[in-house]
Amino acid sequence: MQLNDIKQIKSLFPTLHQKVNGQDLVYLDSAATAMKPTAVIDRITRYYQLDNSNVHRGAHYLSQRGTDEFEKARHTVAEFINAKHDSEIIFTRGTTESINLVSSSYGRNFLKEGDEVILSIMEHHANVVPWHVLKTEKGIVLKYVYLTEDGQLDLEQLKRLVSSKTKLITVTGCSNTLGTFTDLKAITAIAKSVSAKVLVDAAQLVSQHKIDVQELDCDFLVFSGHKLFGPTGIGVLYAKQELLEQMPPYQTGGSMILEVTEQATTFHRPPFRFEAGTPHIEGVVGLMSAIQFFNSIDKTWLRAHEDKMLNAATSELEKLGDVVIYGSKANKAPILSFNIKGVHNSDVAALMDQQGVAVRSGHHCTQPLMKYLKTVGTIRASFSIYNDLNDVEKFVASVKKAKDLLL
Ligand code: PLP
Repeated sequence: MQLNDIKQIKSLFPTLHQKVNGQDLVYLDSAATAMKPTAVIDRITRYYQLDNSNVHRGAHYLSQRGTDEFEKARHTVAEFINAKHDSEIIFTRGTTESINLVSSSYGRNFLKEGDEVILSIMEHHANVVPWHVLKTEKGIVLKYVYLTEDGQLDLEQLKRLVSSKTKLITVTGCSNTLGTFTDLKAITAIAKSVSAKVLVDAAQLVSQHKIDVQELDCDFLVFSGHKLFGPTGIGVLYAKQELLEQMPPYQTGGSMILEVTEQATTFHRPPFRFEAGTPHIEGVVGLMSAIQFFNSIDKTWLRAHEDKMLNAATSELEKLGDVVIYGSKANKAPILSFNIKGVHNSDVAALMDQQGVAVRSGHHCTQPLMKYLKTVGTIRASFSIYNDLNDVEKFVASVKKAKDLLL
């Protein structure tokens, strides 16, 4: 039986049930980080109460049990995104570190001066800055794909942009600022037509759509545990086995070696080559628990539930007047970016917070997108699995009140 009852789902998230500023909390900032269900919190506590030990090194019972759980988690992640091999899953600190691993290990060694990397204008800074660094270091060329009139990624422009110089397309599966999904299968097909690699930033996508890396045929895919109802400080890099085999280590130290002599080291095979030092063990078991939780949610129900909230919030905001909504209307996650005309986004968010409604304001780590949209920032409400139409109502009332006070 899969979970599809909003009351029951809400009850599984203890952090939601509190007052802030004297009001019942309405948490609409899940695109920044998702709340954690009791199952994940309990699993992490249990790790420290019962299992605490280091992995991949002890001969004793607890360490063996810990290692088995750690590798079971790797298998759970591999199954979750349908990777061919468990060894294609590298545990990292999060999306940011995963992209840095690719840019440092793959980028530094396989990209050269004049090679082109294509990004979408919707990328989070985590998928922009590492490429800027590589541009300075290696002289690679960065090119951008923009949006169509209706706010979708412009695939026709992408087709015109690619050439034999294109070596990598690095693109989000879902914009953290606008909620817009990108057509990853089409993007991968375009990339393959010029033998370019594809990196998918799935930080937002992972809690929305079923991901199948074999079907997508992407070369790299990255995400963070904390946006998937799991702990902070843990994330995943998926990469095709044949690429990992060729990539040098990103960090070095214990666990990632075969042999160390006084003067030289030989490295382990992937995935261990990329996991130097004691890993974030409780993060890994917490992530496994989060995936098990997310797998228990009825996805047909979830899609309909989130669409209902998004559509209601969008049409109610439109009715208020003096509101600009950014991005596409169709093909999007329940993320709503908007401004009240003539008012600074942070003033609106502060007034909403006083009413217990938690939203994010600012540039959302997407300054190139803000510039493209000709704004300094927006207010972003992101709805998730545990929100409901009651939250939408309170959200709209809080925007209306802020508007009345500020205009
Ligand atoms: N990419 C996207 C699309 C994101 O939304 C985020 C976080 O907001 C990141 C990358 C960076 O993720 P993290 O801070 O977990 O490394």
